[in-house]
Amino acid sequence: MKNKMHAIVKEKPEYGAVYKEVEIPEIGPEQILIQVKSTSICGSDFHIYKWNKWAQDNIEPPQIMGHEVAGDVIEVGSRVQKVKKGDFVSSETHIPCGHCYQCETGQEHICRNMKILGVHQDGVFAEYAVLEEVDVWKTDPSINKDFASIQEPLGNAIDTILPGEVAGKDVLITGAGPVGLIAIAVANTFGAANILVSEPNEYRRNLSYEMGADHVVNPIEVNLLEAVQDIFGNKGVDFTAEMSGHPDAIRDGIKAVTPGGIVSLLGLPDDKLSLDLTNDIIFKNIKVVGITGRKMFSTWHIANNLLKNEKINLSPVITHKMPLKDFEKGMKLMEEGNCGKIILKP
Ligand SMILES: [Zn+2]
Ligand SMILES: [Zn+2]
Repeated sequence: MKNKMHAIVKEKPEYGAVYKEVEIPEIGPEQILIQVKSTSICGSDFHIYKWNKWAQDNIEPPQIMGHEVAGDVIEVGSRVQKVKKGDFVSSETHIPCGHCYQCETGQEHICRNMKILGVHQDGVFAEYAVLEEVDVWKTDPSINKDFASIQEPLGNAIDTILPGEVAGKDVLITGAGPVGLIAIAVANTFGAANILVSEPNEYRRNLSYEMGADHVVNPIEVNLLEAVQDIFGNKGVDFTAEMSGHPDAIRDGIKAVTPGGIVSLLGLPDDKLSLDLTNDIIFKNIKVVGITGRKMFSTWHIANNLLKNEKINLSPVITHKMPLKDFEKGMKLMEEGNCGKIILKP
């Protein structure tokens, strides 16, 4: 095997990244080397590229970017048992410590000492990548390689929608970025009766219909609570999945839920915000759930099963595919918001 590969490297603590030749990494006894077949850009990759506050606090350049991946195992460490050479795999992004209270109680996805692939160690925007045995996910080889690389955000969407118990219910999804778009398909697959999506970007509003939304509104032009009233009447929605992090979407999303209903919060607001807890949450007896990561690995079983049996259609959300070296074009699309998932191919 050759010893050099191409990778997207966050080289300096500043805006941007470079496509360059680097050494193919060596693996430790509990690591796996894969040949990358498909990767996808996540919002966090865009933050690292732009070098926002969160990136500055968490990343130590130089480092290879990226964490959403599918590829073939080409080498396994001496202690690895979970996968073997030739297996088709993806990877969880959260790297758990294995010994904190959360890890010991089946909640590895919220490990207190968590490290993140492509954030605290080299990522997957490269021809080859190192994965941890604790994270590697053997993927059914019949699953389309691009869908396999977006199992990680699909997992976010699944964990956001699952608590809503949406079968036969009225659902509001605020924010149709890539994970919001995938959440529309998940809500449909799980049997939601009527899905309203709120999204300011026109491109993503159109995509929302393709993912299975029944109604789509622009919250800049219409009052979201009036739209909820028009569509669902006084009852409101049974469940809101908040995927935007926008303060108005969070407040309206909670207000839109019927008493006794459920809200999942996945979007991250930039700042603290005030809520009317008394009237909007406590007296309404609603349940508000924070969502982060994906359950390791019950959510991955669901994602893999839905994809393998073609029970979810992710085709519309993959809006762009490009070679790894054209990643700047992908980042520009992310900036404009005129995209769903962008696939990068080494
Ligand atoms: Zn991601
Ligand atoms: Zn832990």
